[in-house]
Amino acid sequence: MKKYLINNAMIVPVDDERSPYFKGDLLVEGERIEKIVERPGVIEPDSDTEIIVGENLIVMPGLVNGHGHTAMTLFRSYADDMPLQEWLEEKIWPIEELLSADDIYWGTLLGIAEMIKGGTTTFTDMYFFMDQVAKAAVESGMKAVLSRGLVGLTDEDEKGLQETEEFINRWHGEERGRINVTIGPHAPYTCPPEYLKKVMALAEKTGRPLQIHLSETRKEVEDSLRQWGFSPPEQLYNMGFFDYPVIAAHCVHLMERDFYLLQEKNVGVIHNPGSNLKLGSGIASAAGMLKEGIRVGLGTDGAASNNNLDMIEEMRLAALISKGASEDPTLIDAAAAMKMATVNGAEILGLSETGSLREGYKADLVGLRCDRPHLIPMHDPVAHLVYAAQAADVELVIVDGQILLEKGELKTLDEEKIKAEAEKCAFRLREGIKKKR
Ligand SMILES: [Zn+2]
Repeated sequence: MKKYLINNAMIVPVDDERSPYFKGDLLVEGERIEKIVERPGVIEPDSDTEIIVGENLIVMPGLVNGHGHTAMTLFRSYADDMPLQEWLEEKIWPIEELLSADDIYWGTLLGIAEMIKGGTTTFTDMYFFMDQVAKAAVESGMKAVLSRGLVGLTDEDEKGLQETEEFINRWHGEERGRINVTIGPHAPYTCPPEYLKKVMALAEKTGRPLQIHLSETRKEVEDSLRQWGFSPPEQLYNMGFFDYPVIAAHCVHLMERDFYLLQEKNVGVIHNPGSNLKLGSGIASAAGMLKEGIRVGLGTDGAASNNNLDMIEEMRLAALISKGASEDPTLIDAAAAMKMATVNGAEILGLSETGSLREGYKADLVGLRCDRPHLIPMHDPVAHLVYAAQAADVELVIVDGQILLEKGELKTLDEEKIKAEAEKCAFRLREGIKKKR
C-alpha cells in the first residue's frame, strides 16, 4: 500500500470538528487519509513512506464541481455574449449535433486536465456518449458523477431512458466507487410531465439520484407559470419528483414558496455563478437558500458558458456576487464559499467520504503553493483560498490516494497529446458547421 506524508503544511480541513486551519502533518495510506496531526513534525515516517514537503503548501480538500458538461470545452469561445435561449438554439444545439464519440472523449479529457490543474478532484457531467466520459474519468484517476442528458420531446427519447439504465449497470460503482452514475433529465421545459414520470420510475427502480436544470432563467419560470400555473419547483414537487434525491442546477429565479419546497424535500442546489452571470441569467440567492437550510454546492457549468472550469474562481464569484447583489459584505463569507465548493458539493452528490480532510475519509486533497507574491503575507489561509488564490497555484492533487498532479504536472494524462487532439476535434466541428450553413 502506497503511503505519503505531507509534512509541515498549512492544513485547511473544512471540517466543523477541527480548527479552520493549522500547521500540521497529514498521512495518506492507500486510498484513505490515515492521520492528521495539528502540529508539524509529529508523524514519524517509516522507510516506505514517501515524503511530500508541505513547507510552502496550503493543503485543502479537493474541490467538487457539482455541475457541468465537460466536453463543451470544445466550444470554448465559440458562442459568447448571447442570451441562453438564442445561444442554445442558434449556436450550441446545431454544433452539438455534429459531436462524435471521439470528440466527447478528447473534449472531456481536455476538461479533466484543466480541472485537475485547478484543484478539482470530483466532477459532474450531464452529456452524451457517456461511455467515453466514463472512460476518460477512469484513465485520469478523477472522481466522477455522470449522467446521460435526457430530453423528452420526441418518441425517440425513450431510447435515452434505456441507455441510462444500461449506463448505470455498466459503470455505477466502478473503480472502487470512483465512478458514480445519476439520472439526468435536462430540465422541466425539455422533459414534459409524462416523460418525467418515466424518469422517476427509473429512479425508483435503480435507486440513483436525479440531476436537473431548474429555474435557470426568468423566461423559464414565466413560461412554466403560464403553461402549468406553477413555478418549475412547484411543478416538480406536485408530481413527486422531489421524493427522490435531486441535484438541481442553478435555481436563479426562485419564488418565495420555492425556497420552502426545496428545503422541505432536501433538494441539493448547485450554484453556478460564472455561467449565470455570463449568460445574463441573473444572480441566484445562495445566501438566501443557505439561510433557509437548503444545501448549496458550486459548479462551473460547461466551458461554452463560463468559459473555464476553474472552481477557485467560482468560489470567489459566489462570495463576491452575493455581497454585491445584497449590498451586505457579511453574506457568503470565505468559509461558507469554501464549504459550498467542497463538503456541501460532496454531500449533495451523495459522496459520503470526501469533501473534508478527515481521518478515514478518502484521500481527495489539493496542495497550493503559498509563497507567491499574491499570497504573502498569510493572515488567514481560508480567506486566501477564496479571495486571492489562483488555479495556477495548485501544485499537488491526490484522488483516492493516487497522485494526479505533482509539482504542477499531470501524472496520469498526456497533456500535450490531449491539447493537440482537442484542437483537431474543434477544427473538424468548425468546418462541419460551415458546411451546414
Ligand atoms: Zn448545465
